[in-house]
Amino acid sequence: MADDLHARYMAATRTWHKHAGACGHCTKEVGPRCSAGSRLYESFARLQDAYLGRQRRAR
Ligand SMILES: [Zn+2]
Repeated sequence: MADDLHARYMAATRTWHKHAGACGHCTKEVGPRCSAGSRLYESFARLQDAYLGRQRRAR
């Protein structure tokens, strides 16, 4: 379960970074600038919140 969330977080991060590198509008620094990028970024941000939130609660 724990590894599943981490795996999904990593996958969403890779997908978003790959899009940001290839898109020409979106960048990792500025954020999403197209609708496809927004969806990827939202998914990445949601998983990052879930993952980092759980890390904090675990301490
Ligand atoms: Zn984009």
